[in-house]
Amino acid sequence: MPNLFGEIELGVAEVVPFDGGARAYSYSVPAGLAKTLQVGQLVRVPLGGRVSLGVVWKYPAEAPANTKLRSVILLEYEQPVLTPDCCRLAEWMAGYYGCSLNSVLETVLPAAVRKGVRPVLQRSLTLAKLPEKEVLEKMRRKAPRQAEALDFLSAQKGPVERAKLIAGLGMSQSAVDALIKQGLVHEEARVLWREAYKNPFAEGEVVPAAGHKLNPEQVAAVESAAQSLAKKTFHTHLLHGVTGSGKTEVYVALIRQVVAAGGSAIFLVPEVALTPQTVGRLRSRLADLGVKVVVWHSHLSAGERFDAWMAMSLGQSRVVVGARSAVFAPLHDLRLIIVDEEHEPSFKQGETPMYHGRDVAVMRASLLGITCVLGSATPSLETWRNAQAGRYILNTMAKRVDDRPMPAFRIVDMRREILHSKGQHMLSRELVQGLRERLEKREQAILFLNRRGHSRSLVCPDCGAVVQCPRCSVALTLHREDDTARCHLCNHQEKAPVLCPQCRSPKVRWKGYGTQKVEETLTHLFPRARVARMDADTMSKKDRFREILSDFRAGKYDILLGTQMIAKGLDFPRVTLVGIIDADLSLQLPDFRASERTFQLLTQVAGRAGRGDLEGVVVVQTFQPATDPIQFAKRLDFLGFASAELERRTEFGYPPCRHLIRHVFRGRSVDKVNFVADAWVQELNRLHPGLAEIRGPAPCPFEKIQDQHRVHLWYFVSGVKSFLAAMLPLRAKFLCDEEVIDVLDVDAQDCA
Ligand code: ADP
Ligand code: ZN
Ligand code: ZN
Repeated sequence: MPNLFGEIELGVAEVVPFDGGARAYSYSVPAGLAKTLQVGQLVRVPLGGRVSLGVVWKYPAEAPANTKLRSVILLEYEQPVLTPDCCRLAEWMAGYYGCSLNSVLETVLPAAVRKGVRPVLQRSLTLAKLPEKEVLEKMRRKAPRQAEALDFLSAQKGPVERAKLIAGLGMSQSAVDALIKQGLVHEEARVLWREAYKNPFAEGEVVPAAGHKLNPEQVAAVESAAQSLAKKTFHTHLLHGVTGSGKTEVYVALIRQVVAAGGSAIFLVPEVALTPQTVGRLRSRLADLGVKVVVWHSHLSAGERFDAWMAMSLGQSRVVVGARSAVFAPLHDLRLIIVDEEHEPSFKQGETPMYHGRDVAVMRASLLGITCVLGSATPSLETWRNAQAGRYILNTMAKRVDDRPMPAFRIVDMRREILHSKGQHMLSRELVQGLRERLEKREQAILFLNRRGHSRSLVCPDCGAVVQCPRCSVALTLHREDDTARCHLCNHQEKAPVLCPQCRSPKVRWKGYGTQKVEETLTHLFPRARVARMDADTMSKKDRFREILSDFRAGKYDILLGTQMIAKGLDFPRVTLVGIIDADLSLQLPDFRASERTFQLLTQVAGRAGRGDLEGVVVVQTFQPATDPIQFAKRLDFLGFASAELERRTEFGYPPCRHLIRHVFRGRSVDKVNFVADAWVQELNRLHPGLAEIRGPAPCPFEKIQDQHRVHLWYFVSGVKSFLAAMLPLRAKFLCDEEVIDVLDVDAQDCA
């Protein structure tokens, strides 16, 4: 409230408590905090009859009229846990993705930070001296545990954690204290903010990364982005560089500039765990600047996450490389956000808030007035259109480094192949021949098939049944290693049936193939070849993929066979053949982006070939050789593909011409789900006719997952915020059956 002098009183802050609905509440600020309180700090506040943790959202703020304010109780950490721009970003996300501020904060802040976890005090023990022999003997009789502890400590090389010793020997705290008091044991206490924060990839693949002298295309790209950095205003660049054009060197050069000037940078990659190379390269290329690179991804433990967050918010780290949620990193003086492989669907979060890491990155850059660089060999059409319209600055790198040739595409028409070949129809003669030559020449090959398991489905020739998961509308896949039939949606597994479950016919046959069967065939065709298989089934162990990748790099394997996890970013100089075993898989996706996904996949997988001094060949097996994505990929023609695809999207009003919002209803009763979805559409049309072009309701492509029936609606809108502003209040009032859950997915990437 303005006081007599027209000034705002300093003593009021708005705080968003974590368990207080989803809004900011006003509190008075005690005098002791008034000078130091900052937006983004974590505080303890009273809320109803409880005490809640929350984030200072606005300070100083105006006092609401006629209310007696309660006071902020406590400041949790000295440093803000959220930068002020991230508070604004969270607000934007809640509005744009139609979810609560609290659900956004749950995503933005690591769980341990939200709980206000204190730094741990780690106490460790070492033996100070052994007592006289007689004293020790006496101790053995009277206090055997203490004697045991001394024996144990004397056998150790280094300090032992106090808690571990106590648990391990079943001692009491006081017994340990007594030993310390007698001067027999020395205790050391250390405050651990960041002990768990070692280098998660320190022992990973060692990637020698000498800097390269940048070529003219790289120099031009760096200079263009450097101009934006110098202007210190919001700019987005699209770095469109073909596979092998050296985009990483451009990112590194920009990060080095930013760090040298005292700023910070975020580097987003689709799945860090799968790109240890990138992390390794970045680390070694920044080492001379004394920069600690924080690695941020889904495999971090809660403690590692906490420590990494604290290191950034304390200003101890200035570069983070990570998966999508690294976009919220609390770095000091952020000046640059890079999104590599910006087209990757994995930047979209699959649960609420269903945000797109790339779009949030651009938004954060605009809030801060800084530079954002999006890079890809196959930009998404959304990004491409922004570049075409001049909203993004386009930097092109059309050539591979050192003028290496692009890989040559060979398209194999599998319709013909089936007529001509006997026996297996998985690997065409051309692919088999190519593999044989590579083996003879001691070069390497990568085979890509985006389907794991052995055989795709069990079919009954007598009654026509396809054996389905009892809980999902999807066929069960055979896994040979333990002869189980498994559901790839819910992980249900059962003993592989030998009789048709419908008609008891014994003639049931497994049809189709997955990576396991390809592996089997490869060992049969090339008994001496060393084949490594990489898919979700072989990668159950956390570090296994790094092992396989570095063994492959070291030449311990001839053929690397895998699912989409091998499609991204890998750089192996001795790979001269890439085989795409079934290019039609992605063409058949029930998704308006099927063409785009196929083009991206072919181009990216092909990009793994010929990255060293040897030329590369790509063999693509398909039953639909004439389709656009295959033809354009073969001609290495992104521009041609993009303009044809944009034309088609415009014609049908699909993104990027408009935004697409998916509204999914699910529940155990198919009738209720249908009823609610129908009733909602009627209600929306009645109260707000013409608010959006609505398609559906229709069953989702996966009609049932884990006994949940699923129906969806699509809204085609030109403005997301205005649509949600009108629609969300109606949705809040709409009496949804409590057995039906509905979820909104703005700019949906997944249509299944
Ligand atoms: P992209 O991400 O564009 O596919 P990378 O950044 O992985 O390409 O670079 C491909 C390879 O080229 C890497 O092995 C990298 O070390 C090398 N490289 C990058 N820039 C140069 C350069 N200017 N001269 C020579 N080699 C380079
Ligand atoms: Zn049958
Ligand atoms: Zn299932």
